Amino acid sequence: MHVSTGRANQSDSRMFTVVVEAFGLGLQRQAERRLLVSFSQLQSTVRTIALQGGRITAVLGPGPASGEAPLAPQSPSQPAPAPKAEAKAAPSKPAAVSHADVPVNLYRPKDPFMGTVTENYSLLAEGAIGRVNHITFDLKGGEPQLRYLEGQSIGIIPDGEDANGKPHKLRLYSIASTRHGDNLEGDTVSLCVRQLQYEKEGETINGVCSTFLCDIAPGAKVKITGPVGKEMLLPDDEDANVIMLATGTGIAPMRTYLRRMFEAKEKSLNGWSFKGKAWLFMGSPTTANLLYDDDFNRYQQEYPDNFRYTKAISREQQNASGGRMYIQDRVSENADEIFAMIEDPKTHVYMCGLRGMEPGIDEAMATAAAAKGINWHELRPVLKKAERWHVETY
Ligand SMILES: Cc1cc2nc3c(=O)[nH]c(=O)nc-3n(C[C@H](O)[C@H](O)[C@H](O)COP(=O)(O)OP(=O)(O)OC[C@H]3O[C@@H](n4cnc5c(N)ncnc54)[C@H](O)[C@@H]3O)c2cc1C
Repeated sequence: MHVSTGRANQSDSRMFTVVVEAFGLGLQRQAERRLLVSFSQLQSTVRTIALQGGRITAVLGPGPASGEAPLAPQSPSQPAPAPKAEAKAAPSKPAAVSHADVPVNLYRPKDPFMGTVTENYSLLAEGAIGRVNHITFDLKGGEPQLRYLEGQSIGIIPDGEDANGKPHKLRLYSIASTRHGDNLEGDTVSLCVRQLQYEKEGETINGVCSTFLCDIAPGAKVKITGPVGKEMLLPDDEDANVIMLATGTGIAPMRTYLRRMFEAKEKSLNGWSFKGKAWLFMGSPTTANLLYDDDFNRYQQEYPDNFRYTKAISREQQNASGGRMYIQDRVSENADEIFAMIEDPKTHVYMCGLRGMEPGIDEAMATAAAAKGINWHELRPVLKKAERWHVETY
């Protein structure tokens, strides 16, 4: 966003009045506010307003210099300086995430739905590390029907008992299929599950539920609960922009968004036609570990103006300092464009994957923001409150 201010000079003490509508959060949101800011604060103020979903109706000034005037609302009794220069900078309204009619807890652990496995196959190419499977369950016959939305999770209760002889507790898994299911008939749900495996005292320990799921055969019945979760829902707005940051199985919700946006048959069923920009950052240890990669490459070819796919392959690519290329390095490389998108109130950011990815992303965002005079640790909660910063890590 550019505001024309005539001569540019960092030590410039000219003062400008920014007239803004709907600035602030919740109850503090005001119909109109006038902010008196110095030239050096002008660009960052405009950005902050845009990020909070405010609409700048005018930038007036420059008025008489006043070296001590803070960035604060001007009281109505103080007349604004006479309008000399006016800049149009009117971001459109924030894209809302609708929470209406979101199915939650249709099935609970005491009375779970018994889903039937229809398929279970590896998502990995030869030479990949570990084990990640795509598993689909038939949901037919439920009363009520187990329905869900993109971005939600379901619970799985593995067969068997824990060390205390009690039934296993449920584990949550992000849903990897759209509400229509992979078969587009609206009666299946798919998951993307990595088998947990670690070494303890020289012994290989297999995670209970992830191993149960990766090993399960078609025809088996599985206890399913949920759906749960409203954090990762997509905005209804067809013009929203969606930045996705995923590592490993964190790709599951992103797959649902991208299928909804770009899969031809989904599009014809949806009555929802995505027109914004979607940008997926995917972190993976090797190329063989990339999940659903062919589909995403295809979407990029078919929708080059709407979809961008950026991969960080840590064991094969190098970052600018010669180290392993992690997703946060890709965020740093593209910081200018990411922040330009975030300035648009229609942009949402979604992060999903192992909890360990969060500090790296946070650091990359903080550094990129600082270079633009923005304090990321102040901005992130603002984005979160505006329901534009969505995180699900585990
Ligand atoms: C909202 C949400 C969504 C999720 N989505 C997905 C998904 O889409 N795909 C997916 O695969 N998983 C997902 N998970 C994780 C999933 O719920 C399980 O936690 C995971 O599958 C492991 O469960 P498990 O029963 O196999 O392991 P468990 O048998 O329960 O073992 C896990 C325990 O092992 C221990 N442990 C783990 N690693 C180590 C280690 N290195 N050293 C020592 N001890 C260790 C810890 O105590 C840990 O609690 C999600 C979790 C949440 C909360």
